[in-house]
Amino acid sequence: IVRMQRLNKYFGDHHVLKDIDLSVDAGEVVVVIGASGSGKSTLIRCVNGLEEYESGELSVDNQKLEPKGGNQKALTEIRKEVGMVFQQFNLFPHLTVKENVMLAPRKVKSTDKAEAANIAMKLLDRVGIANQAEKYPSQLSGGQQQRVAIARALAMEPRLMLFDEPTSALDPEMIGEVLDVMRELAKEGMTMMVVTHEMGFAREVADRVIYIHGGQIVEEGKPADVFDNPQNERTQSFLSRVL
Ligand code: ATP
Ligand code: MG
Repeated sequence: IVRMQRLNKYFGDHHVLKDIDLSVDAGEVVVVIGASGSGKSTLIRCVNGLEEYESGELSVDNQKLEPKGGNQKALTEIRKEVGMVFQQFNLFPHLTVKENVMLAPRKVKSTDKAEAANIAMKLLDRVGIANQAEKYPSQLSGGQQQRVAIARALAMEPRLMLFDEPTSALDPEMIGEVLDVMRELAKEGMTMMVVTHEMGFAREVADRVIYIHGGQIVEEGKPADVFDNPQNERTQSFLSRVL
């Protein structure tokens, strides 16, 4: 569903992604790990066009996203099919939880109000917070807000979900509830690209782990192989610091 070939991305003179070759199949869970500044966020932000890239090829669900300066007519379609969850939840503070989840179906898909409310309640139930539907985001814990953000992304019925450190801003006791929701999604067959420092989650849920260093994929494989028997010395040294 995602196909990157020799993708290169610069911020000015700074070469941030170097010849990235990466494919993600439907139903696959790919976890991206690496040190701060290695390019993890930039990599997944390219997938839904939040960052433009300079050269190479990128297609998402068989639609080509052109490099900087190219024709971006596929972008609107791609954004409808790719849900994204960030470290910061970015919920609308003046809307209730339910209204936050209803917004995208209403605006983008012109779903009528009753139907959108119906969808929202089902999704809130799925992430375990249907009972908070009428509250405002500020009345919820961080873990609950992040679950609302996941429900909101799911409301577009995405074919692919991107997660950029979804638990990094949470108090430790709330990390588990968000990871549980992600684990369920993975079980249900959602295609996911996840940047995380939660190595336990990566080991358990990932079909494939990708280690990025200095904008390059230096190692990838099944979690058991990458974690227990890393081939590259940079991966070894990174893992010895985080595990
Ligand atoms: P972290 O773990 O801290 O989130 P990361 O692996 O996600 O790091 P990126 O955010 O992708 O790293 O950043 C990769 C490199 O690109 C870093 O050197 C960063 O300083 C640089 N960078 C990121 N965003 C921008 C930007 N908008 N403008 C200029 N440089 C940027
Ligand atoms: Mg990042």
